Amino acid sequence: MTTQPILPPAMLGMLGGGQLGRFFVIAAHEMGYKVTVLDPDQNSPAGKIADVHLCAAYDDAEALQAIAKTCQAVTTEFENVPAETLSTLAQSTVVHPSADAVAIAQNRVKEKAFFASAGLPIGPVVTIDSATDLPESGDLYPAVLKVARFGYDGKGQARVANQAEALEAFKGFKEEVCVLEKMLPLDLEVSVVLARDQQGNITPFPVGENSHLNGILDITVVPARAPEAIQQEAQALATKLANALDYVGVLGVEFFVVDGQLYVNEIAPRPHNSGHYTIDACVNDQYEQQVRALTGLPLGDASLHSNAVMVNILGDSWKEGNEPPWADGFAYGNLKLHLYGKAAARKGRKMGHFTVTGAELDAVYAVAMQARKALHIGES
Ligand code: ADP
Ligand code: MG
Repeated sequence: MTTQPILPPAMLGMLGGGQLGRFFVIAAHEMGYKVTVLDPDQNSPAGKIADVHLCAAYDDAEALQAIAKTCQAVTTEFENVPAETLSTLAQSTVVHPSADAVAIAQNRVKEKAFFASAGLPIGPVVTIDSATDLPESGDLYPAVLKVARFGYDGKGQARVANQAEALEAFKGFKEEVCVLEKMLPLDLEVSVVLARDQQGNITPFPVGENSHLNGILDITVVPARAPEAIQQEAQALATKLANALDYVGVLGVEFFVVDGQLYVNEIAPRPHNSGHYTIDACVNDQYEQQVRALTGLPLGDASLHSNAVMVNILGDSWKEGNEPPWADGFAYGNLKLHLYGKAAARKGRKMGHFTVTGAELDAVYAVAMQARKALHIGES
């Protein structure tokens, strides 16, 4: 079935008002659309620049009615939007991705079961519904205990060496349903962000190589410094996953590389932090692709025109309450700074990012690391 694309100046709906939503608003505006953002935070980064900001809870009946009435298509930037909100809205307007796909991505138990059923490689894992499910011994330890729902940026996770530590951590998580994953000796972490349209066409972005600090993404290098075969396989696995989910929209897929083998870690039913580099280094970025997939426009060219290194700027860089020395960052002509307009800087909070681009990856990386140091990133 081919449906007519939704053209500008239509109003689009965005559930969630964080930085990913803010970049969606910017892309939608560039393409001539208007955006209504739903977010309960009065100062949300996307809400502040949206045409309409509905400042209400994600299940607020009145707000959802307003969206259904005024928005021609609705998407999300936040996987913890209740899946019911998406299914309710889908009764009266276009919604992508589907409530089913989001429900899988927001629950680690469902997510792992889906990966296994789709034939995707995953590491050893067990579901922990109650303390009696914690394995006594065996080769799962050392392991990572992760709450099934609402974890992000390393939150809701504990590294445990044995059953006793796992039990303590499980109690610390109030005995909520968890997964217990074997701690894998990672060679590398990579991710693939892709867009899939309503006809099933897929445009994967180049593979990003990610490093984390304290469980939070720190640096993405593109192209990834991994063998070409690994990169192709990562794109092929992400494509297989998106097809199996019958996904429409932008999808982020995180992988572990262990002994030259790829394992799927987790998915995000939205643009991904590791895809920020696409803003400055690709012909069309992940947010433009999100608008295109949502509205039924043909997907754009996702190819890389510059090598890139993206660095996250966390609240940690605000030393003794002072802003980082931005002038030092701006000293590099090939550095693009993106700040999200968040008022309060807190430890671990994503305040912005920068991307350095250029033809020579080594030179780009060197500049990015100099700027990272100048802005006090990674010091705590
Ligand atoms: P989230 O990104 O939602 O916080 P992840 O499951 O992606 O949660 O975990 C965050 C990071 O912790 C990963 O990117 C990886 O660096 C590390 N990590 C998580 N699970 C494992 C594992 N099983 N083995 C090794 N490292 C892990
Ligand atoms: Mg992750």
